[in-house]
Amino acid sequence: MKIICIGRNYVAHAKELNNDVPSKPIFFMKPDSALVTGNRPFFYPDFSDMVHHELEVVIRIDRLGKSIEEKYAHRYFSEVGLGVDFTARDLQNEMKKKGLPWEIAKGFDYSAPVSELFPVATCKDIHNLGFRLDVNGKTVQEGTTALMIFGFEKIISYVSRFMTLKTGDLIFTGTPAGVGPVAINDRLEAYMEGKKLMDFPVK
Ligand code: MG
Repeated sequence: MKIICIGRNYVAHAKELNNDVPSKPIFFMKPDSALVTGNRPFFYPDFSDMVHHELEVVIRIDRLGKSIEEKYAHRYFSEVGLGVDFTARDLQNEMKKKGLPWEIAKGFDYSAPVSELFPVATCKDIHNLGFRLDVNGKTVQEGTTALMIFGFEKIISYVSRFMTLKTGDLIFTGTPAGVGPVAINDRLEAYMEGKKLMDFPVK
């Protein structure tokens, strides 16, 4: 199982980190050891002083596919939920400055908590799915999939040109604006269409 994450997929977020808005999807990966489910606590890593939350809509691939055409891409996923792409921003900034890969900033253990997933068919409109993150009861990130630069189908089509997608693979589809640091003892609560899907502490 692999975890694919899309970067800079919301204009306001690309701008808040002073990045250009991409003309093609940007993606990176996290290993399966990054995955956390069941609202288990996030353990703050000792190698970073600046871990940021990035709340994202996550889809699960449920069919093997390679070079999938965009018009057929909707057939390759049927479940959706939320995930937090935890990012050691200090390490990422250092790596970006040197033009080096970001893995240590993005792929560390427990950096990918994911909520329970729900059938896409139960969503009113997956292309306009509202979601938000509260930290300690205060809303810090709010978005809708309508604002994604590259939609689910485009992402699946693009990524599958380079690597085969397999059943169980997860795709984090990018974060809206409002990323920021977390601290030990924070409580994170994430909502999709007003329904709470995630609720866990930072330890
Ligand atoms: Mg992200």
